[in-house]
Amino acid sequence: MKIRVRVAGRPTGYAVHVESGLLSRVGPLALPHAPGGRALLVTDRTVGRLYGARVERSLTRAGLRVSRATLPAGERAKSFATVRSLCERWAKEGAGRDALVVALGGGVVSDAAGFAASVFGRGIPWIAVPTTLLAQADAAIGGKVGVNLSAGKNLLGAYHHPRAVLSDPDALATLTPRAVRSGLAEVVKMGVICRPAILRQLWRLCDTPGGVTPEASGPLVAACAAEKAWFVAQDERDQGMRLLLNFGHTVGHALEAAEGYGRYQHGEAVSIGMVAAARLSVIAAGLDPVSALEIEMLLQRLKLPTRLRRPPTARFWNALDRDKKRGRKGARVVLCPAIGSAEVYELTSLTTLRQVVLSLIRRS
Ligand code: NAD
Repeated sequence: MKIRVRVAGRPTGYAVHVESGLLSRVGPLALPHAPGGRALLVTDRTVGRLYGARVERSLTRAGLRVSRATLPAGERAKSFATVRSLCERWAKEGAGRDALVVALGGGVVSDAAGFAASVFGRGIPWIAVPTTLLAQADAAIGGKVGVNLSAGKNLLGAYHHPRAVLSDPDALATLTPRAVRSGLAEVVKMGVICRPAILRQLWRLCDTPGGVTPEASGPLVAACAAEKAWFVAQDERDQGMRLLLNFGHTVGHALEAAEGYGRYQHGEAVSIGMVAAARLSVIAAGLDPVSALEIEMLLQRLKLPTRLRRPPTARFWNALDRDKKRGRKGARVVLCPAIGSAEVYELTSLTTLRQVVLSLIRRS
């Protein structure tokens, strides 16, 4: 299956390939994008151990000279230090503007390596080879790349589209159950904001004996990738429609930043953030309370967290206040007036949002 992402300045856009066995064919698909015959492979320790050799072999067989950089696994690697060390390394290796960055891994690798590609030599080409459900459904598509600062998520970033996205569903078989669940949070988000059929499909999968396995969720991942491509084509630079993809992210990002980017996986934080957004939607956007409860129940059924284990710290409130999605009148949040639709609201005060967050503290 091939999904096309339409973007300004590229007449044909770029392709998201979703196909079993792609990991062994990265080389021939990367070759047209590497005029200098050079591939700068970036992966993380876990993915490198599992798939690094296969991808490196494919690149080498296609005639590319490959150097491999391995990041630590996890969100903490999405940092300015990582970008700096990648760029220093590429400079030392004599990589020029005609080298191609190949980002093999989850959203952390595609965000960090894509950002490094956006600044090295004032921008060199890159391709994404996403290996998590979250990255195949969402993160690797759309050209938003960046890293975290301790003050907040994705505070350093750029728009730098990949030349291609190569998603091999087979790679998802080695994900931990926790990483699968984390990815499903973004799938739920897509269902809530624009495609209720995705939510019905997730409920059906929950009721099947095998549950929501990576294999069973393959069609949902492809559906989300297609929706993401649509949002990007409508609004490449986050001026309107694309902002809706931030449903659940205001609180989610603040949680990740407050916890030092270690405690929650991205989708887990977004799951709690979506419960907050759904409750706020009941108060401020007229969402039917039963629908809000259904969102919460689906997340629970998928074994995603929906409650805070302890009261938020000052770091959380600071991160929430500093959230970069600020409008003219106040904090911008994405709310859901009805399942399958979303709108950007500007809150003049954060008081109600704060109360909603406090309502999520687990009572033991
Ligand atoms: P991740 O990259 O940290 O991957 C999660 C874990 O799974 C890591 O430990 C990784 O080593 C491991 N892993 C990856 N592939 C594997 C495989 N096939 N088998 C076994 N283990 C594997 O996290 P993620 O959930 O993929 O991505 C989260 C990041 O994506 C966040 O930083 C988030 O902000 C970002 N994101 C970006 C966008 C965007 O538009 N740029 C959109 C959504 C999310």
